[in-house]
Amino acid sequence: MNVLFVASECAPFVKTGGLADVVGALPKALAASGVAVRILLPAYPALAPVVAQGREVYASSGSAFGPLRVVAARSAELDLLLLDAPQLFARPGNPYLEGPGRDYPDNHLRFGALSHVGAILAREGVDGFLPDILHAHDWQAGLAPAYLALTPGRSVTSVITIHNIAFQGVFGAHLLPQLELPLQGFNVDGFEYYGNFSFLKAGVVYADRITTVSPTYARELTDPAFGFGFEGIVAARRGRLSGILNGVDLDVWNPAKDPDLVKCYTGAAPTKRVANRAALEARFGLSLAPDAPLFCVVSRLTRQKGIDLLVDVLPRLVARGAGLVVLGSGDMDLEVRLRAAAAAWPERIGVELGYDEPLSHLMQGGADSIIIPSRFEPCGLTQLYGLRYGCLPLVARTGGLADTVIDGNSVALASGVATGFQFAPVTAAALGDAIDRACDVFADKKAWRTMMTNAMRQRVGWDKSAAQYRNLYESALQEAAAPRD
Ligand code: ADP
Repeated sequence: MNVLFVASECAPFVKTGGLADVVGALPKALAASGVAVRILLPAYPALAPVVAQGREVYASSGSAFGPLRVVAARSAELDLLLLDAPQLFARPGNPYLEGPGRDYPDNHLRFGALSHVGAILAREGVDGFLPDILHAHDWQAGLAPAYLALTPGRSVTSVITIHNIAFQGVFGAHLLPQLELPLQGFNVDGFEYYGNFSFLKAGVVYADRITTVSPTYARELTDPAFGFGFEGIVAARRGRLSGILNGVDLDVWNPAKDPDLVKCYTGAAPTKRVANRAALEARFGLSLAPDAPLFCVVSRLTRQKGIDLLVDVLPRLVARGAGLVVLGSGDMDLEVRLRAAAAAWPERIGVELGYDEPLSHLMQGGADSIIIPSRFEPCGLTQLYGLRYGCLPLVARTGGLADTVIDGNSVALASGVATGFQFAPVTAAALGDAIDRACDVFADKKAWRTMMTNAMRQRVGWDKSAAQYRNLYESALQEAAAPRD
């Protein structure tokens, strides 16, 4: 089976969040189950060396998007199709923003072109590869199913995955004529959205299947509290919606062989982690009692991630004797408040503002617990890394966090199945209570060790989810092939 991914990010080349991790890891897992994936991705400057080594496999000069060409190349074990259009993508830095908080004004054209070319390659095939399925990821690829449904040509089954419904790709209707999209779709049952148009709505309405990245988030999407206005649109297609958990790239995230750790370790001897914790404390200038837990946060610093709730409970965390190291960047007010906390408690709280992949590994390998107080979390990856590294996740009970962490309540502790801590409702008070509970369990070395061993035993790789995607592709293809009555 051949599947064409269409996406705006892919690790290790371009990443702003979990979407990139999924697009970079799922194709390898699918390959192992007999599904060949090629990934259509914009040729941002970071990909220039890969483009230079590739072969041109598609070119067009006559489209509304300007000259477009596609270069095929293999890199990082991935088969890439790079959309080389310098007028759209030769811009360094963040793929979406021209400055902090400011989207590029031509994002509709940039990702319209990506979706448009995705539909063409899916239909016509490319480089000897004829896709059975087009799999669009997030709003940036959302128009691809609409192009497939509304323009003439070979019929191709399409799937869209919603990685975060807060990002919907909404643009003014006056921009539509620039996109070579048939205007018959500009209505309430198509991509029209309150007088504007939405890339994500186009994907949800026209794709044959809709997936999101956890079963709980799939349920939450039809709830006004989580749907960001899309709850009705998603509910109307409920029968086509499913939730498949993300996995972890087990080669990249492997505490037994992680070059970013001071000391590697396995689930058989997780106490070797203490050397990593010492390195972390030294790096952040902390001084903690060995019997006090060290918490960490690796996150975008935003309200979605509940970082404001964490800042509110810091006095409580410090009063318990615990420590905290934070790596992230995001909203200015949260950065300022975190810096102030680090200045107020320099031996207990360390903050590094920025993006640092190696440090994120050391934090998972050295801290005792990772705090993820998200108000919503489609899947979340850092709790999965935490499980794999024995850095017990302390999480809000929402989305994929609810699906992947077994709360260390008295029953789960007694029966030895707990892997972390959950709290609800998502308030500072409930977060503070969960931190208290974690500190209590940490004081019981045996109980904590059992939890670490359990956590490290969880199957967080991609194999199970890849099988679910394969089944989904097969069922969508069978349905498309079935005679209609
Ligand atoms: P989201 O995609 O909503 O940001 P996820 O948990 O799905 O959240 O994925 C976040 C990814 O980005 C993880 O791989 C996490 O380790 C990584 N990450 C987030 N912030 C940083 C940072 N400051 N430095 C390094 N890695 C980070």
